[in-house]
Formats: sequence, C-alpha cells, structure tokens
Amino acid sequence: MKVFDYIILGAGLGGLAAAACLTKQGKKVAVFEKHYLPGGCCHTFDYGEYSFCADVHYISQCGAGEAIDQFLNYIERNISFNSLNSDCIDRIITPEVDFNIPLGWGHLRRRLLRDFPQEAQAINLYCDEIEDLRQQVYEFGQDVNWYNRKWHDWLKLPKYLHLFSRRNWTLQDLYDHIGLSPKLQAVLAGQSGDYALPPSEIALVTHACLVWGYSNGAYYPKYHFRHFVNTIVDSIITGGGIVKLSTPVEHIQVDEGKVTSIIADGKVYQATYVYISDLDPKLTLELMHDSQA
Ligand SMILES: Cc1cc2nc3c(=O)[nH]c(=O)nc-3n(C[C@H](O)[C@H](O)[C@H](O)COP(=O)(O)OP(=O)(O)OC[C@H]3O[C@@H](n4cnc5c(N)ncnc54)[C@H](O)[C@@H]3O)c2cc1C
Repeated sequence: MKVFDYIILGAGLGGLAAAACLTKQGKKVAVFEKHYLPGGCCHTFDYGEYSFCADVHYISQCGAGEAIDQFLNYIERNISFNSLNSDCIDRIITPEVDFNIPLGWGHLRRRLLRDFPQEAQAINLYCDEIEDLRQQVYEFGQDVNWYNRKWHDWLKLPKYLHLFSRRNWTLQDLYDHIGLSPKLQAVLAGQSGDYALPPSEIALVTHACLVWGYSNGAYYPKYHFRHFVNTIVDSIITGGGIVKLSTPVEHIQVDEGKVTSIIADGKVYQATYVYISDLDPKLTLELMHDSQA
C-alpha cells in the first residue's frame, strides 16, 4: 500500500488546482485519473494536425488580481492569456435574432435596450436581478465562511433575504416573473450551453454567477488550453507529486464514517490527511463502501 499526504480523485481542473496548491504547500500529493489525458472536461485531444480543447471556448477571472491570476501566482507559474473581442464574446443566432453579446454587464444592458426597445422593462428587471444576486453571492461569501461558521453569522442573514428568497428559482422562473418574450428568453439562455440544460432546470443563482463572471472578462490561453492544463500538471510533478493517468478509482473504503483508503487500478492507496474528490458527487457516493454497513 502506498501512502501520500493527500489523495485526489480525478484530474479535472478542480482536482489539479487543489493538487497544485497543496504541492506548493510542501504536501505529497497523488492524483488518480481514469482518462489517458489530464484536464477532465477541459482536456485537449489531437485530430490530424490540429489540437482541440474538448469544451472551453473562454474562461473568466484571468485579469490582474483575479482568481486565475492569483492561483497562477500562488503556484509560481506564468501563463499568457488573450482577451476575446470585447464587442462579441458570444454570438447567439436563433431563427429570429442574430445577437452579439459584448463584454461588460452595462454594455449588454444597453445593447439589449437598443435592439429590443419594446421589452425595456423586462430587460431592466433581468439585468438588475442578475446584478443583485451576483453581488449578494459575492458579499455572502466574504461575510460567512461555510467551513468556519460562528453563532453571530446568523445575525448577518437578514441582509441576504433576497438571495435566500431566490434559492429555489430556476432561470425560467425569472423569465416568467419578469414577462420576457420567448424570443429574448432564447437569446439570454444562449450562454447556457455550459449546463446543457433548459432554463427550467438551471438554478437562477448559478446562472447569475456564470453570466456575470463571463461579462467581466473572457480569456483564452495564448498557447492553447493544453498549455494551461500541462503547466498545472507540471507544477505538481516537479513539486514531487504524481498524476497517474489511465488509473480509474474503483473503490473508496469507509471505516467508522471516515475514508481510510482507495483502490485505483487494483492497487490500494492511503492518505495521511485528506481525500479530495473531483468526481461527480453521485459517482463519489457510489464508489464509497462502508465496512460497517
Ligand atoms: C460542453 C461544455 C462547455 C463548457 N464551456 C466552458 C467554458 O467555455 N468556460 C468555462 O469556464 N467553463 C466551461 N464549462 C465548464 C467547465 O468545463 C467545468 O466547470 C470544469 O471543467 C469542471 O471541472 P472539474 O474538475 O470540476 O470536473 P471534471 O472536468 O468533470 O473532472 C472530473 C475528472 O474526474 C475523472 N474521473 C471520473 N471518474 C473517475 C474515476 N472513477 N477515477 C478517476 N478519475 C475519474 C474524469 O475523467 C475527469 O477528468 C463547460 C462545460 C461543458 C460540459
């Protein structure tokens, strides 16, 4: 049996980012990935002489001091990003409309009002609601740490009543509430490809964070997304960790309510501190086997 400080299940961006930060902190980390390539949804494959990233068309938070920039600084790696054309980060084409989504929430609002003046009221309600929710999510995250809650955190909750009232809303609930036409509903759901779900199944709060994040910056790594993923993998390996590809996690052993080991590709591995799963939560639970149960 091999022992590491931390064991990470899955080499998607979530698992790799956690592994890179822990490696930077001097911890011995092992990442187990079932695919033969790292990056999860964001892996890159070759076809002929071309390389394709399986999903990303752009990412946000790459500007100075933003999350990706902070992360890269933390692991002491440098990646150059290109910014997308600020006049059109997404182009939404429906049978009735051909609409360019610009960078910046204010720009988007102005362009929507210009192109669909008959729906001014609904557009303003939509833009205000997304802006409000995003702001409340941000402030809530600053105010209350879920991992270190104090009794007096409860006193802060009335401030977030609006966010709380929207916790079960879908994007469709908002559309219905503000009376947006089906034509504009289709345009504003155009960036929802990331969820591969219809508006009736998209959590409104998730949608608010996604479109707000995108509106504040749309970047792509200058030397392809593969370079971004490989840079993170390299920081783990040169820091003494391992990223084992083609190594599916088959079993997560639980004893007395705690994970005690995993089996990957037939071999047993143990973590001294913590096991972190980047797998789908449902799959993670399915792989867990409790010796007491
Ligand atoms: C079509 C599409 C387009 C998108 N476009 C964008 C975009 O343009 N911009 C953007 O910011 N976001 C985009 N996203 C979202 C983004 O890709 C995801 O949020 C992100 O990649 C999720 O990373 P993750 O690490 O959480 O999960 P994943 O990438 O899903 O990583 C999970 C990893 O676990 C591995 N795994 C699964 N089972 C096992 C097992 N038994 N043992 C070991 N490993 C296992 C998987 O192979 C995978 O590598 C898009 C998503 C999709 C689906």
